[in-house]
Amino acid sequence: MQALLFSSQHYDQDSFSSAPGATQLALHFQGARLTEDTAALAEGYEVVCAFINDDLSAPVLTRLKAGGTRLIALRSAGYNHVDLAAAKRLGLTVVRVPAYSPHAVAEHAVALILALNRRLHRAYNRTREGDFSLHGLTGFDLHGKTVGVVGTGQIGLAFARIMAGFGCQLLAYDPYPNPEVEALGARYLDLPELLRESRIISLHCPLTPQTRHLINPQSLASLQPGAMLINTGRGALVDTPALIDALKSGQLGYLGLDVYEEEAQIFFEDRSDLPLQDDVLARLLTFPNVIVTAHQAFLTREALAAIAATTLENIARWAAGNPQNLVEG
Ligand code: NAD
Repeated sequence: MQALLFSSQHYDQDSFSSAPGATQLALHFQGARLTEDTAALAEGYEVVCAFINDDLSAPVLTRLKAGGTRLIALRSAGYNHVDLAAAKRLGLTVVRVPAYSPHAVAEHAVALILALNRRLHRAYNRTREGDFSLHGLTGFDLHGKTVGVVGTGQIGLAFARIMAGFGCQLLAYDPYPNPEVEALGARYLDLPELLRESRIISLHCPLTPQTRHLINPQSLASLQPGAMLINTGRGALVDTPALIDALKSGQLGYLGLDVYEEEAQIFFEDRSDLPLQDDVLARLLTFPNVIVTAHQAFLTREALAAIAATTLENIARWAAGNPQNLVEG
């Protein structure tokens, strides 16, 4: 059986080629993102393996189906980019990797918090320029600060454990409270209360119609002045232009983003010799108290190995008529 991996990078080739079960399949690595224009490349491939910024809308799925595709194997946990109703209608099976390393994402969220607070991005540049001054680098102790965790599934739990280790007070919001998070001493509140009471807010919920623009002008106005917001979930959890207004007024003191609403056309590519066409992202990148990473929170050796192993197992199980990790609408 042949599988085509869209949006594949060198690190995907390495992790998939060395994963258990790799020799049972003919894997073809395609650097292009899956779109309506590139869907034709999958002609004749029963299995299409896609990542988070691939387009899995109804027209693309229809094209894949016409080319003989039967299985969409997502290399991600999130599936907000798949038109599941269309997949069902077309008889396409969709599988995903529900968990690969919650630690990878949680630790990246913490890395953003520490870098923003202790201004490591500024200190790094300064000392390399021979500037050993400390003005403007004052941070705050994390110990004793209130941290709000929005979404307390696997990643939210891993994040809460780390922040509990710093001696933070934990607040949480999730329609389904997690007893393991409560056991860390976290208090579950409703979202408006959590936003009002937290110094640091970290988003770990999926993108759904209910969570789209969860952070918007009204919720930003309710934050403590100078609060820190971290988003390693999905870009559209926040209304990005509203973040710019809140940063300009000082209402938002620090912003760490690993995801961006309009990232699909930009992230994962070296665009350093091109003018940045996205004015919202360009403005965000001018703030000294903002760090943007290009959806790299998942990018650890352990997570890549787990993504490859689970994806190959998902494909093998589907081929054997005993599918696992199905995504259904
Ligand atoms: P999970 O399913 O284990 O946990 C998600 C939690 O969010 C659940 O407890 C669920 O009850 C909760 N939730 C659902 N609706 C909510 C709402 N309206 N408000 C608050 N909470 C809500 O998923 P996970 O593995 O912890 O991943 C969380 C998200 O992180 C994924 O959906 C994905 O979007 C994102 N993610 C990002 C990266 C990255 O590289 N940046 C990598 C993996 C996952």
